[in-house]
Amino acid sequence: MTTQTTTWPEAVIARYLTVGGATVDLTHDTLYLSDTEPNVSVARCGGCAAFRNVEWGARTDRYSNGSNWADSDARTWAQEHAEKCRALPKPTT
Ligand SMILES: [Zn+2]
Repeated sequence: MTTQTTTWPEAVIARYLTVGGATVDLTHDTLYLSDTEPNVSVARCGGCAAFRNVEWGARTDRYSNGSNWADSDARTWAQEHAEKCRALPKPTT
């Protein structure tokens, strides 16, 4: 298992190891190409095509600009997906 020693891409905030040996990466991204500031948390599985976008503005309150909630939701999805995804990433040569 090489996951622990692999260098993370700079944009990756959190990484979850799936039962299949792939990773689910959490990043911040822009929802539309025209957006100039990050406004969405993205959890994307490296083993299969599954991903979850959580818009920051979807759940705002006075304690958060939205990213905290979005990160939390994305982390929950990533954790649940990692526990059941058995897809393997395509080897890169
Ligand atoms: Zn997956």
